[in-house]
Amino acid sequence: MPCPKRRHTRMRSRMREASNWKIFPKNSSNCPQCGEKKLPHRICPNCGFYNGELIIAKKEKNKPTEEKPKE
Ligand SMILES: [Zn+2]
Repeated sequence: MPCPKRRHTRMRSRMREASNWKIFPKNSSNCPQCGEKKLPHRICPNCGFYNGELIIAKKEKNKPTEEKPKE
């Protein structure tokens, strides 16, 4: 069995981990609802749809806050 003689630095191990890091995994597919990339058999993180049904209702980001009536 290999026995490391010296401890690797954090930088060294992080550099190695970063070398096989990917933004989008190979098995990603496109959402039929919005066309965004998503993992297969998962709810779309962009629109919250799965199998043509809305599973998670996403909150709109630029929605203005409801103004309360004065008085
Ligand atoms: Zn989607």
